[in-house]
This record gives sequence, structure tokens and C-alpha cells, in this order.
Amino acid sequence: MAKDVDLVVVGSGFFGLTIAERCATELGKRVLVIDRRDHIGGNAYSEIDPETGIEVHRYGAHLFHTSNPRVWEYVNRFTEFTSYVHKVYTTHRGEVFPLPINLGTINQFFRSAHGPDAARALVASQASEIEAGDAKNLEEKAVSLIGRPLYEAFIRDYTAKQWQTPPRELPAEIISRLPVRYTYDNRYFNDDHEGLPVDGYTAWLERMADHPLIEVRLSTDFFDESQPINKRALAGTVPIVYTGPIDRYFDYSEGELAWRTLDFEREVLPVGDFQGTSVMNYADPDAPFTRIHEFRHFHPERDYPVDKTIVMREFSRFAERSDEPYYPVNTPSDREKLLAYRELAKSEPDVLFGGRLGTYQYLDMHMAIGAALSMFDNRLRPSFS
Ligand code: FAD
Ligand code: UDP
Repeated sequence: MAKDVDLVVVGSGFFGLTIAERCATELGKRVLVIDRRDHIGGNAYSEIDPETGIEVHRYGAHLFHTSNPRVWEYVNRFTEFTSYVHKVYTTHRGEVFPLPINLGTINQFFRSAHGPDAARALVASQASEIEAGDAKNLEEKAVSLIGRPLYEAFIRDYTAKQWQTPPRELPAEIISRLPVRYTYDNRYFNDDHEGLPVDGYTAWLERMADHPLIEVRLSTDFFDESQPINKRALAGTVPIVYTGPIDRYFDYSEGELAWRTLDFEREVLPVGDFQGTSVMNYADPDAPFTRIHEFRHFHPERDYPVDKTIVMREFSRFAERSDEPYYPVNTPSDREKLLAYRELAKSEPDVLFGGRLGTYQYLDMHMAIGAALSMFDNRLRPSFS
């Protein structure tokens, strides 16, 4: 069976589908994509909730954004995007503040009416205990950016819930993702382009796979030797792009890489609007969840019911082997293991490791797609020609 294909792709997330689509369309190669889940699309998959008709992102809210012109051009071949602009609010001590931290957050928090310069000076005086360049961990980085009072209100306890690791033991980069602005601009992302696929993520993902040379086989685990498309059977017979967890590929020989997983609790409520916005964070430790998503607000242009809504509470914890891996924890010991796995990967010339799980990296969708386009250019096109 694998004799009839030119490439096997393990995993039908954005990385795997981009590889499959490029190899089929550009090179005329026959590609078999397998996924152990019973649906296409990896974590970007979404489905229509049968009770409300509202599109729900099963693995957590996914917002597309990019400043990469090549990725933007590429994704627009498969879907149009709405004009949705992502904004997030946070609840702290019974009061709602805008995120990311901006002039509105600062003035509300300090009960002030500062302009940009005065706010900057205030925050700088509170942040002076640590030089940004000296910050060695998440806490120090956050304090150096926003000062201790704002850090303790909006970051410390949320981060502790999200990572269950003291912020002093977390890498500074985690917090660098969040901008701090001295204007009232509360767009969550800074990118040139953002929006949601007009007819949903799954329609977009299905269009990427819709090619006569691409076959997608679901509910097929690459390590399950009771089915024919497995690691042992294929070894050395066909090129493989593997987007599952890299430690699993090598049977955890160098130890397990640590991941965070999420638990999602969905509820249909008999109201037209529960929270007035798509994502509300909960900054304080008394709420056990980190945030609540209300999916209707992602698509204000759709005709959703006015008497019910669906919300999803998000809880974070360390992943066990049987859990879905979501965020790489990336401690120094993880990085050591990853280097050892990368060495092992060099001894597998027919297998390319890619994507979030295959490289043990937090990748946004546009980054996963961009990385797949680069792998196609630099590795697959040359090796096939
Ligand atoms: P995945 O989507 O994880 O796909 C990997 C696939 O491989 C899965 O379908 C899995 O079932 C399959 N697989 C694994 N092992 C095997 C096996 N043994 N056999 C067969 N198949 C296997 N990005 C954004 O840009 N914006 C967001 O707002 C955003 N929000 C996110 C929220 C959460 C909670 C998470 C976890 C991620 C978020 N992302 C977001 C990131 C986005 O999900 C990733 O960029 C994208 O999923 C990466 O695609 P991928 O193909 O690398 O991995
Ligand atoms: N963060 C925080 N408070 C918030 C939102 C984010 O402390 O209200 C921190 C937290 O450490 C989180 C990081 O900023 O892990 C990145 O946040 P983002 O919303 O980008 O995370 P994601 O959507 O990937 O969970």
C-alpha cells in the first residue's frame, strides 16, 4: 500500500497538510496522510455544536494572525477571512480590565488619567528594581516590563494557574509574547493580518487536503502495528514527514519531554450572551480556570440563536503520557533531551520531523504553515527532484 505513494505524512494538522498540499500540487506526488484522531486538522479543528449551531474550537480558541506575506498569500488560497479583531479582557478582584496591558488597563488600575508619557514614567519607576536585560526568568522579565503591582495583579497568579510552576522558574520568553502598550489600543495581536476563516477552520483544512493525489486516513496511529501504515512496516521504504511527538517516535529513549495539557468544560447556557466578549481571563487564584471562551463572539456576522450560547472554561495541568500535549514546558532538562532526540533524528535520513509536536516548539498556526513551506522548499522539493 505504501508502495503506491511517494510520501507518507503522519499528522493532519496545519504542518502536515501544508506539506501534503505542496507535494501534491507542485510536484505531482502521491501523498498519504494519516492521523490517529477521527478528524482532520490537528488542534485547529473546529465543529458545529449540535445544540446551538455555534462553531466551537474543540482544542481551544484559535485566532489566525500573521505578518508573513508568503503565509498570508498561501492561506488565502483556501479560505477567506472575516474582519474579526481579537480582544481579551481579564477579571481581577471583581473588576474587568482590558488586555494586553495598555493605557486603559494602567489608568483603571491606578485610578488615574495619565497620558502616555506619564504612564510610562509611572511604570518605569515601578519597574526600576530590575533592568530588562538582566531578567532571567518570567517574573523578573514581567516586573522589568510592567512593574510589580501590575505583575502581581494580572500576571503572577494567572501564570501560576497556567503553568503550575513558580514564575521564577519559567523562561522569560513566555511573557515576551504579550505586548505592553502606552495607547488605548487593545488589539491582542500586533500582526499585519488577522481574522477567522469565514466558513470555519474545518472547511479550510478540508480544502487543503482536497486533491486527487492526497489520501487522508483517519483513526490510524503510526505506532499501531495492527494496521499497515506503521513505523516498523514503513521504515526505509518511503519518505516520511512525521508531525507527532518526537520523544514518542524514539520510544522515549532519552526520557519524556514535559508538556502542559488543557481540560475544557463546555456548557450551553439559556442566554443570548453570557460575557459580552469572546475571551475573558481570570487573573485571580480563586477561579480554578484560566479563562472562559464564548464562541458566538468569534463570528458576530453569523446568524446564531439569540436565546442560547455556548461557553468553554479552560483548565491547565501537567500532561500525562495519555493526555493531549498542548504547550511544551521547555525546562533546561527538556532542552537537553530535545538535543539528544535531534541527534537521533539525524540517523533517520528518510524521516523529516516537523510541526509543534515533532520539533517540541510552541508554534502559532502561521508559524507551523511557514515552517512547512520552508521544509517543502529546502528539503522535499530538492530531494524529490
Ligand atoms: P497539530 O495541529 O497538533 O497536528 C498534529 C497531528 O498529528 C494531530 O492531528 C495528531 O493527532 C497527529 N498525530 C500525533 N501522533 C500521531 C500518531 N502517532 N499517528 C498519527 N497521527 C498522529 N495558533 C494560532 O495561530 N492562534 C491561536 O489562537 C492558537 N491557539 C492555540 C490554543 C491552544 C490551546 C493550542 C494548544 C494551540 C494553539 N495554537 C494557536 C497553535 C496551533 O494549534 C498550532 O500552530 C497548530 O496546531 C500546529 O499544527 P501542527 O500540524 O504542527 O500540529
Ligand atoms: N498571561 C498572564 N495573564 C493573562 C494572559 C497571559 O499572566 O491574563 C501570561 C501567561 O504566563 C501566559 C502568557 O502570558 O502563559 C502568554 O499568554 P497568551 O494569552 O499568549 O497564551 P496562550 O493564548 O498561548 O495561552
